[in-house]
Amino acid sequence: MRLHEYQSKEVFADYRIPIPRGRLASTPEEAKLIAEELNEPVVLKAQVLIGGRGKAGGIRLVKSPDEAEEEASKVLGNRINDIPVRRLLVEEAVNIQQEIYFGMTVDREHGETFMIASAEGGVEIEEVARSSPEKIVRININPLLGLRDYQARNCATEIEVPRSLWRSFITMTQNLYQAYQNLDATLVEINPLVITTDNRWMALDGKIIIDDNALFRHPDYVDKRDISAETPEEIEARKFGLSYIKLSGNIGCLVNGAGLAMATMDIIQHKGGQPANFLDIGGGASAEKVAAALRILLADRQVKTVLINIFGGITRCDEVASGIKRVLKEINTDIPFIIRLVGTNEAEGKQILADANLKTADTLQEAAEMAVALSLESGS
Ligand code: GDP
Ligand code: MN
Repeated sequence: MRLHEYQSKEVFADYRIPIPRGRLASTPEEAKLIAEELNEPVVLKAQVLIGGRGKAGGIRLVKSPDEAEEEASKVLGNRINDIPVRRLLVEEAVNIQQEIYFGMTVDREHGETFMIASAEGGVEIEEVARSSPEKIVRININPLLGLRDYQARNCATEIEVPRSLWRSFITMTQNLYQAYQNLDATLVEINPLVITTDNRWMALDGKIIIDDNALFRHPDYVDKRDISAETPEEIEARKFGLSYIKLSGNIGCLVNGAGLAMATMDIIQHKGGQPANFLDIGGGASAEKVAAALRILLADRQVKTVLINIFGGITRCDEVASGIKRVLKEINTDIPFIIRLVGTNEAEGKQILADANLKTADTLQEAAEMAVALSLESGS
């Protein structure tokens, strides 16, 4: 779950990481009022869950409360990269001396967190990684030892932080690491982390992603989840407890079990096709859940073929077959279904499918070949 900039900054403030003064506004009048309170030039920042708002027109620097009101009225209610802007963060404008990139995320290979920093702040780190990878510093943090002073100091040296700011840099990065751990985050990012013209640290932007699997430990954030940036498919999938990830191919996959779903995607690619999604319906899925999953697949216009791969253990083949049948009764579609169904209650399941005039494949190899052939036939 990704937090908004203003939420990330609330976290920063809790962990004594300096942020600009400011508040949220949902109307142009409020934006004006906040600008008057701050009594300084302000920055209006659209609270949408995407990067690169600056380039997309979501960040406006204004000089007066009247201008704040006028600019706010242009941004509020409009869309940025197709996402509606409902709230603006109105903050004192900061005079920047230097913009730094600073973040922490998971090193999956080593099972550790690493911090990542660059003197080239402000722009997206992926861009820096492409154009000048030598300007990026990566330092792994041992989970038992934590972030040591010397590591933060090394980082400061690499990105050429002035010596007078080393001590505060070390404290700040250690505090951020605390926040990262306490929140079960998979990413915290400050971009840009700036040094102001009067030599102070300031987190000008913030991005935090909390591990969805740990959300049960942070119920207060679950209530604050903003679904305006999620696709209808993703929202629907979460409602039914399905793990769904949209991909770019045209073979819709419905599988029970994450490992089997990965293997199914692999074999599709091996046979020369492209999966349209990852979808794990989980163990013991009911007909209702299967139906919800299928509706999500069929709503995707890129899907030209559906490949269903079920290895029934706790999941019962007859439940799955009933779910398929239910959806086909309700949605009229010419999209071909290739179904491989084995395991618990296989015979009952196959009977239900046969009654509905649906063919099954005996092996995954065969199913994948059929699905790929159909997906290529249909073009696109
Ligand atoms: P993003 O484009 O979504 O990452 O939004 P940011 O909050 O990172 O803002 C983009 C850029 O706008 C920053 O890198 C700064 O260069 C600029 N910016 C943001 N806030 C301020 C500010 O208070 N003062 C000044 N001078 N520039 C700012
Ligand atoms: Mn930014």
